[in-house]
Amino acid sequence: SFPEYAVPQAPEDPLFGLMAAFRADGDEKKVDLGIGAYRDNDAKPWVLPVVKKADILLRDDPSLNHEYLPIAGLTDFTSAAAKLILGAESPALSEKRVHSMQTISGTGAVHIGALFLRKFYAGAPTVYFSNPTWANHNQIFSNVHLPTSTYPYFSKSTKGLDFAGMKNAISSAPDHSIILLHACAHNPTGVDPTRDQWKELAMLLKQKRHFPFFDCAYQGFASGDLAKDAWAVRYFVEQGFELCIAQSFAKNFGLYGERAGCFHFVTSPSSSATSTTSRIASQLAILQRSEISNPPAYGARIASLILNDTKLFAEWEENLRTMSGRIINMRKALRSKLEELGTPGTWNHITDQIGMFSFTGLSEKQVAELRESSHVYMTKNGRISMAGLNTHNVEYFAKAVDRVVR
Ligand code: PMP
Repeated sequence: SFPEYAVPQAPEDPLFGLMAAFRADGDEKKVDLGIGAYRDNDAKPWVLPVVKKADILLRDDPSLNHEYLPIAGLTDFTSAAAKLILGAESPALSEKRVHSMQTISGTGAVHIGALFLRKFYAGAPTVYFSNPTWANHNQIFSNVHLPTSTYPYFSKSTKGLDFAGMKNAISSAPDHSIILLHACAHNPTGVDPTRDQWKELAMLLKQKRHFPFFDCAYQGFASGDLAKDAWAVRYFVEQGFELCIAQSFAKNFGLYGERAGCFHFVTSPSSSATSTTSRIASQLAILQRSEISNPPAYGARIASLILNDTKLFAEWEENLRTMSGRIINMRKALRSKLEELGTPGTWNHITDQIGMFSFTGLSEKQVAELRESSHVYMTKNGRISMAGLNTHNVEYFAKAVDRVVR
């Protein structure tokens, strides 16, 4: 049997709980700034036009069936995904030092990476996350019994990067630790290291022989430029690191529910690199088989069609600029409304931060007040999903913030 001491009631997932509370709120002025999913200017989900096009092409393709994909997924998809993050010219690709395996979106990629490291990593298996990080990182790594720790990341005073704190913690960690890094558009803070800071971090990780684990959930979504958003990962690969990457196509293709993602393992350059890669691939296949047998096909087919067709690819880039551009405009609008209202505090961080989220600096109490008095839904840590703002509600939100800050 399952008595309460053995199976206690678990708390509801905070983010999905917030979504449910929002849905239940009957007020027409309500604003949803919780979940990180893109919304158009009318607060509606947006099917990317290029995705709609690919979807129609696929549905009309008489050769498609519902057979299983191979264990490592759709090869056209995984190889295009590797080129997308590493760059088509990456020496890691030409030297066959990369193994790519399709996963259940980004979450599945982080999970399979965690499971693989738990089973095979010969270094000091503590994983260091930024404080704060995507809440799911903690439970994904704890569930596979990897010890976790954190490095400082967000400076409350500047609402930017606590670079000194970050470096200090990374250099105090035991050699060969696993360092989880957000490739771009850090969730939840929207704060990324600069290129010079990434270079310093690479040097430090190399000195300490740490293992970088990149989580890449927002490529192209942050700046609107796919190569720019992949810069940090590509730099680390250039520096010869052995590393892994969890890649999600949920946000940049708007394929949230289709669970299209990829896990990449990059071996460092050496004469035995290809055989190391092949050994790693063989073990990943066993893990994949026992977890999901083989990954879901449809989302990967859509992404693959777009990634492998020059014209569709260009249309996708245009769609990415539409999404990132609208978000950047909302950042500007929110900051200028708050400044116009003379809301106490500084608000430059709203436009300095990038990507889907902004870490407003609002306290848990102010967040609760916003929900009570203005039907604004956001996570307790003061994070807002910028995509929930639009030209119809940004002023309403700014005024609500103004009232709780005063
Ligand atoms: N990592 C980070 C940092 C994220 O923000 C997300 C999306 N919330 C993911 C991974 C994975 O999301 P998904 O499983 O939907 O691809």
